[in-house]
Amino acid sequence: MKIGIVGSGMVGATAAYAMVMQGVGREIVLVDLNPQRAQAEADDIYHAVPFAAPLEIHAGTYADLKDSRVVIVAAGVAQKPGETRLQLLSRNAAVFRQVIPAILEQAPAAILLIATNPVDIMTHISARVAAAHGVSSRRVIGSGTTLDTARFRSLLARHVGIDSRHIHAVVIGEHGDSEVLVWSRATVGGVPLAEFCAEQKIPLDDRIKATIDEKVRRAAYHIIAGKGSTYYGIGSALARIVDVLLHDQRSIMTICTPEADIAGVKDVTVAMPHILGGDGVLDDHISLTLDDDEQAQLHASATLIRRLIDDLEAQGDL
Ligand code: ADP
Repeated sequence: MKIGIVGSGMVGATAAYAMVMQGVGREIVLVDLNPQRAQAEADDIYHAVPFAAPLEIHAGTYADLKDSRVVIVAAGVAQKPGETRLQLLSRNAAVFRQVIPAILEQAPAAILLIATNPVDIMTHISARVAAAHGVSSRRVIGSGTTLDTARFRSLLARHVGIDSRHIHAVVIGEHGDSEVLVWSRATVGGVPLAEFCAEQKIPLDDRIKATIDEKVRRAAYHIIAGKGSTYYGIGSALARIVDVLLHDQRSIMTICTPEADIAGVKDVTVAMPHILGGDGVLDDHISLTLDDDEQAQLHASATLIRRLIDDLEAQGDL
């Protein structure tokens, strides 16, 4: 089972490393605009193979992506000083207009897993480009809020003192400032979070919720302030998504893919819980009953992304 990675910078290379450590896939191919970088990362990670799972990892060109089951796209250009978010988006859109067809030409049956930020918009762009090549948007998946959901679950787990595998809670919407922590549907061992806390005499007031919210929503800012960029968390999340796709695990994950309607916003891409399996996204999305505040937050988040898509369309980038 071959996995391609286009863009073997920090995020792409860390995803490859996480796959080697977890034994996901059989062969990994790293492609980058900078072939020396791809080669160096492949060599470095290959030296970890004797300590981990037996798989093949090497650098290559687009031709080497042939027959990949999944291709992770983590290619991107960095923000230039003084550049606006829209100008950066416009340059990344141009990168994706080249990269996505080049992948699909070699691996038309591959599922595309998009990791480049802002991931919601880049996934929307990828799906548009892929559609022009006859590929269903069900096969174009953005990492969305997979990592944010993991952060939320782990912080709730720590607060209530329970194994995070028994905590069910999701973060939906934009992967970024406007994301929505769905407190109203969080459960511990199947018991609603508020009920569980009341019964166990664990405090759960607005101050505690605000602290957890800040740690989830602002995590990337804190990490970037300390070390420049984030990659271990997202690299591990990507490895997990690839595993789910390769083994048709039908896991529910908060990924993003184009949707007809999110909280009243049409044709938009933001994260929602979806069933993922061997063919990519297997459902429209799982309907969550949100409270009024969460519903309003989701509408605002989807509107923000839709406006950026409108701006890109207006300047001919989409
Ligand atoms: P991140 O932290 O998001 O991984 P990096 O700058 O470390 O950011 O990595 C981005 C990678 O994407 C770089 O290695 C860069 O060379 C690569 N890249 C940029 N444009 C392209 C492209 N058109 N095709 C393939 N790779 C690209």
